[in-house]
Parts: sequence; structure tokens; C-alpha cells
Amino acid sequence: MFEKLRSAFGSLSKLATHTSLSEKDIDSILWDFELAMIESNVAQEVIQSITQSLKRGLVGEKIPRGEDQVAFVKNELRDSIREFFSKTPNIDLPQLVKSKLDKNTRDHFSPFVILFLGINGVGKTTTVAKLAYLFKNMGNTVVLACGDTHRAGAIEQLTEHANRLKVKAIAQSYGSDPAAVAKDAQLYAEAHNVGLVLIDSAGRIQTSKNLMEEMEKIVRVVRPDFKIFVADSLSGNDAVSQAKEFKSFTDFDATILTKADADTKGGAALSIAFITQRPIIYLAVGQEYKDLVAFNVEQFIENILT
Ligand code: GDP
Repeated sequence: MFEKLRSAFGSLSKLATHTSLSEKDIDSILWDFELAMIESNVAQEVIQSITQSLKRGLVGEKIPRGEDQVAFVKNELRDSIREFFSKTPNIDLPQLVKSKLDKNTRDHFSPFVILFLGINGVGKTTTVAKLAYLFKNMGNTVVLACGDTHRAGAIEQLTEHANRLKVKAIAQSYGSDPAAVAKDAQLYAEAHNVGLVLIDSAGRIQTSKNLMEEMEKIVRVVRPDFKIFVADSLSGNDAVSQAKEFKSFTDFDATILTKADADTKGGAALSIAFITQRPIIYLAVGQEYKDLVAFNVEQFIENILT
């Protein structure tokens, strides 16, 4: 995972061959670094922000001699990236779910509702199933809402996951209103004390405006507790522009990056977090239900710096 980004950051060890850094030294070395980041699918705004922050940290610095030189540069970089991720809030989704469900009483039950957003093919339906698996294993009950009523096969795909996971799926026919399907699932959960409602949604790109209106309608009708944007880490800057558009229409809370197992570049994680100012909460790392890992900033940093 993320080999390319790691080699981009590796190129910075050239900085360590200098004993004191002038702006010119830094510029010439950062030039290679910038190119390597572009190749790693890091968005332009992000590259600028990282290089500026590095420059601020390094210009005029005396670099210690010997082995400590590389460590010195890496530390600067680690601090820049850490600072960069510190702008996104820390979210513990299982904890959020638990605190809402703990408030339920005998007379009143309100489920935790999650809406999944994203373009077709990014792995949204698979991710809904993975989250259902995760939360079920934590002892929660789950209902799935087949909110993609456009894509042929989408309802069967999610229903099949529900059968395998032994959870309920709520569906209507193709062409029906996804907000109504989502509401049905919410009402079902309220009536049967089901803790989590996971709503799949459509992701056709041809009619982006209609899609965004559809998402806004689901949000208005069910008022989800949490909105997750699902992005394909392999799709590079496309994922970044999708993130911007979904963010402006739905103001989602967090991102899950899929196909990280196949992502040799790693730039999408940096770019999406920076541009949306929302955290990456999980990485999807394969096609099986268990293939979902919590995203950990420190681990990500170590991954790309070692
Ligand atoms: P949707 O159209 O966004 O609902 O996408 P799907 O859930 O149908 O997934 C599209 C394809 O990506 C399927 O072949 C999935 O098995 C595959 N996929 C989903 N998540 C991952 C992942 O984390 N890693 C890999 N390698 N493949 C994935």
C-alpha cells in the first residue's frame, strides 16, 4: 500500500545531505518532491500546503550531522502531515453509535442512521455490507436500506449481502423514491428496536445535479445521524472532485477510502482529508466483509515515511 507516496517522501532525504538549508536548496529539492507527489495522486492544493509548511519548518535550520540528518527531515515532515490531519475532527464511529443508542428508553427507541454517498463503482454497496458486519460483530442489530433504486442489480446485490449477513434489508421496486425507502427502513428500525440503519444510495454520474437533489432529499427526510462519503482511492483526482461536490451538497461527516489494498499511490487519503476537512475513518482493504480497518493517522504517517 502507498509505495509511491513513500518514495515521494523518501526523495526528501536529499535534504539531509545539506548542513544548513537556504531557501534555494529547499526549492530545488522540493521540486522533485512535488513531482513525486503529483505522480502519487496528491491534489495540487495539498502539495502546496505540505511544501509551504515544510519550508517554514526548514528554512535556515541547522541540520545535525551524521545519521540524525534523515531523522531530522522526517521529523519536520511528520509534523507537517500531523498538523495537516489535526484539522480534521477525531471521530470514533462505534462510540457515536453507542452514545446515541444508550439514550434509548423502554418507551422510545431511535436508531442510529448512516447514509452512504458516492459514485457508482467505488465500492459503496460492499462498504455498507462491511459496516453491517462490523457493527453486528460488536453486538448491534442492523437493517439495510436499498436506496439505489436506479442501478440495475443494486437492490439484489444489497439484499444478497443482507441474506449472507443475516440482517434485514428494506427495498422497494426500481424507480421508486430512495427517500421513501430510507424512511421505511428507519420506521422499521424504530418499530423493531434495530440499532443501526445503513442506507445505500445511487451513484450515477451522468446526471449529477439530479443525483445531488436526490441525496439532499434523503437527508431532509431521514435526517441521518452520520453521512459517509465513500471514495475509491484508485481514482486519484476524480475522487477529489467527487468529494468536493458531495461535500458542498451534503456536508458529509467522514470518508471511507476503498480499494486501499490495491492503491500503490496513497495520495487520495491526504487529498480528500485536506480538501473536505473531514476525517478518513476506515480504509477498505479487500473484497471480504472483514476487510475494513480503522484509519489511523500515525500509522499512515509511519507507512509513508518508513
Ligand atoms: P458500488 O457501485 O459503489 O456500490 O460498488 P460495489 O460495492 O459494487 O463494488 C465495486 C467493485 O469493487 C466490486 O467488484 C467490489 O468487490 C470491489 N471492491 C469494493 N471494495 C473493495 C476493496 O476495498 N478492495 C478491492 N480490491 N475491491 C473492492
